[in-house]
This record gives sequence, C-alpha cells and structure tokens, in this order.
Amino acid sequence: MKADASLKQRYEAVRARIAAAAVHRGHRADDILLTVVTKLASIDQIRELIALGHMDFGESRVQTLLHRAAQIDEFMQRHRQLSSGRLVNLPDQVRWHMIGHLQRNKVRKVLGMVRLIHSVDSLRLAEEIQVAAARRDEPVELLVQVNTSGEKMKSGVAPAAACHLIEQIDTMMNIRPRGLMCMGPLVQDPQLARPTFERCHEIFEDIRSAEVGGEQFDILSMGMSNDFEVAIECGANIVRVGSAIFGSPLSAEDPSDIP
Ligand SMILES: *Cc1c(COP(=O)(O)O)cnc(C)c1O
Repeated sequence: MKADASLKQRYEAVRARIAAAAVHRGHRADDILLTVVTKLASIDQIRELIALGHMDFGESRVQTLLHRAAQIDEFMQRHRQLSSGRLVNLPDQVRWHMIGHLQRNKVRKVLGMVRLIHSVDSLRLAEEIQVAAARRDEPVELLVQVNTSGEKMKSGVAPAAACHLIEQIDTMMNIRPRGLMCMGPLVQDPQLARPTFERCHEIFEDIRSAEVGGEQFDILSMGMSNDFEVAIECGANIVRVGSAIFGSPLSAEDPSDIP
C-alpha cells in the first residue's frame, strides 16, 4: 500500500469541517456519520482509509459495491490473520451503504452486503426488499429517498408521498424504515441547496412527530462534497462525501489509472 499523504489530509479536512458544522448546530462531531463515497476511489485508497479507522463506505452501483466489498473483505481477513486482530486502527468490520438507484432485480444480490439502503424510492422496490429480507435473520434497514429539489431527473418520491410510503414500509415485517435521504440540486453555490435540505428536514420531523416510522426513525442522509456543511446545518446526520476526499473526476489521481 503506497502512502498517500494527501488522501489522509483531505479525509481529515473533511472530518474537521463536519465536526465544525456539527458543533455550529449544537451537536457533537460524533452525531454526524460520514459515509465515504468510493465511486472515484481506487481500492488502495479505500484500504488506506480503513487503516485510518474508517468504517462506512457508500457506492451507487450494485456491481461496483459487490466487487469492492469482496476485495475489502479479503483485505480485512488477510490482516486479521497477519496481526491476530491486533492491528491498532483497523476496524472490526466495514459497513457498505447502497446510495444509488436500486433496480428490483438487483435486490437479492446486494442485500447481504449492505448495512443501509439509502435510496428506496417506490413501494414496489420496498416490497421486493421485504420478500428478499424475509429469508434473513435480521430486518433490513433502509431510507426513503425524497425528491425535494423538484428536479425531474432526480429519483426519489414526491415530498407529499413520503409519509405514506414510510407508513406502508412500517407494516412490513422484515424491513425497517430508518429515515430519509435526499440530494441537493446541482448548483455551484451550496447555499442554493438550503431550501431542498430544509424541506427534507421538515418532512422528516413531520413523520417523526406523527410517530409513523417507529422509534428508530432517526436518520437524515443529505449533503455531498459541495454542500455537506449546509446539509448539516439543516439537520443531516449522515453525509455522503466522495470527490472532496478522492478528488473530482477531472483531477482524480488514481494511481491505478496511470499507465
Ligand atoms: C456520488 C454520490 C455522492 C457523493 O458525491 P460527491 O459530490 O463526490 O461527494 C453522494 N450521494 C450519491 C447518491 C452519489 O451518487
């Protein structure tokens, strides 16, 4: 594994910005979970973050998620054998988050590998997950994606439909609604994302106060590289950050891509 000082620095800078935004809102840094989005990362970069103690990673495509989860699994096992579990920083396990659009025919494949599905956007998808989850010991935890930016290209249920979908999911035995996810609009100025995040937070609080999603309805996943601080100010407790840590697609310095 090649040491990549700048990756560590960028990771720590993002953590510091999250902590500052959390404190600004009167929370502790630990109240906000950073999901590192690895779609621009090399496998070595993911390993380096794991060695720094990071556990939560997100992928937007099922195939990539499965591939990376398998590679990382192997890496963890090898390390455990080499160090008899005593490597200082290495976490016990890595948690994968499915953050992108999930097709119903991929549900079965991804179920055993993910800690949280962020992107449930229809009753049919929820039902598919329920059927597949019925064969498992533990309920599958998920978020409902809400389209609060109003952009037609974005997936997610309409704001007015979110509460009812949560209600329906809550009646299904083997899946558990944990909260909401939304994406900010694609804009340069992160402040322009604020109304989108505020709207999502409002829907989240409405559902909570109506006690629709049950006691464990407590996750609000919003904010990416460009707008995570604004999202935290608006109540996010999971942020999904990729390019601020790994570099933008244009400036990506993935060593494995260099011939
Ligand atoms: C890619 C992606 C992210 C991370 O975006 P960055 O701008 O690279 O931080 C977050 N959420 C979803 C759903 C994504 O697809």
